Amino acid sequence: MTENLDPFSISQKQLYEACKIKGYDTQIYETLSVPERFVEVKITMKMDNGTIKTFKGFRSQYNTARGPGKGGIRWHPEESASLVKALSAWMTWKTACVDIPLGGAKGGIICDPKGMSSRELETLARSYIRQLADVLGPNVDVPAPDVYTNPQIMAWMMDEYEKITRKHVPSIITGKPLPLGGSAGRSIATAQGGVYTIREAAKDIGLNLNGAKVAVQGYGNAGSWAAKLLHDEFGCTIIAVSDSRGGIYAKEGLNPHKAAEHKENTRSVIGLKGTEEITNEDLLELECDILIPAALENVITHENAQNIKTKIICELANGPTTPYADDLLFDNNILVIPDFLANAGGVTVSYFEMVQGYYLYFWTEKEVFAALDRVMTNAYRSTIEEAKKYNTHNRMGAYSISVERVLEAMKLRGWI
Ligand code: NAD
Repeated sequence: MTENLDPFSISQKQLYEACKIKGYDTQIYETLSVPERFVEVKITMKMDNGTIKTFKGFRSQYNTARGPGKGGIRWHPEESASLVKALSAWMTWKTACVDIPLGGAKGGIICDPKGMSSRELETLARSYIRQLADVLGPNVDVPAPDVYTNPQIMAWMMDEYEKITRKHVPSIITGKPLPLGGSAGRSIATAQGGVYTIREAAKDIGLNLNGAKVAVQGYGNAGSWAAKLLHDEFGCTIIAVSDSRGGIYAKEGLNPHKAAEHKENTRSVIGLKGTEEITNEDLLELECDILIPAALENVITHENAQNIKTKIICELANGPTTPYADDLLFDNNILVIPDFLANAGGVTVSYFEMVQGYYLYFWTEKEVFAALDRVMTNAYRSTIEEAKKYNTHNRMGAYSISVERVLEAMKLRGWI
């Protein structure tokens, strides 16, 4: 069989299914199925070697009925308009699912940041903001980091926006470094939020997390912190991790801190002492208790869904599972914590960062995580209840809650 793997088509198909389950008519689907605004910009800059390069950048503002647009900026060679639109849709459902007063947006640049110098990265960051400043703002649309962007890049972007507006506007962007108004806990937040949902899911299926076997695909910000937290807080055994170059496996478990250090020193997890090399595809099919896709989209598809041998899938990545695979995993009784619930810890602490930035008073990490735990646990419980109510899988449960909340805001505003 062939599956349509275009990310925006997948997000629309999911929405279509959700509308069907809720009994909404096609007019509702039509208004919810496209972004409010999509902007494409050209960024031309001089590289260190004197050549001139032109990059394509995007910002998609999907829905702002519940609040300002919110969503990360991804820098990746495979970035595309379709992916940015899909990610902005998922951001809309995500902020609604955890019930924070924000809409959904997403941005990106087609580029390979791994091959760029610090000066080139800074120029790219500042140029992107100059091109889009007119459609951004703390009450309009607030970006954040995503794949291959980080707090330093957020700092340059904030500074550029402040130069343009000639004001201090810390809540223009989140994921900033702490000395510039970042929130305690933001760098761990996505993983920490996911771990709270894993804790709840483990209770639901009677899984003892102490010694539970965990495999993590993608050892970046989200994946590496999830491995470290599950290992340190619950005594999970991390049997495999991977990055863009491949994966490593250790039957008796590996030390996630050593894996992170090894990646820091060599740019890959491959070669960590006491582990054997595996592929990213092998990793997904390992027998384990918890599987965490934390890299890119479309990794669990019709080709491998039947071979997945885990009890819980916690999707820290956005869009890792196709609709076909969703049905198969549901039939096989695998508990999926869907992406826009599982990885909502990042945007939730981003929202806390905005709040702290508005009144310039900052919370301790303990306060941040106590508030995050409440938000994530409530969202997880509501999703599971909703899925049961409609006898469907958890992704549709999460969609059902989120779409209803967005529609309610649109109706109250008189948009529909
Ligand atoms: P990151 O740049 O810190 O890390 C990405 C990791 O994925 C890197 O280790 C990279 O080597 C690996 N990778 C890239 N291509 C791969 C491939 N083909 N196979 C296996 N590994 C590959 O990014 P991140 O912030 O950790 O984001 C990872 C995922 O989590 C993305 O889908 C992102 O949208 C999602 N997410 C992140 C956040 C956040 O706050 N960081 C929030 C919500 C969702």
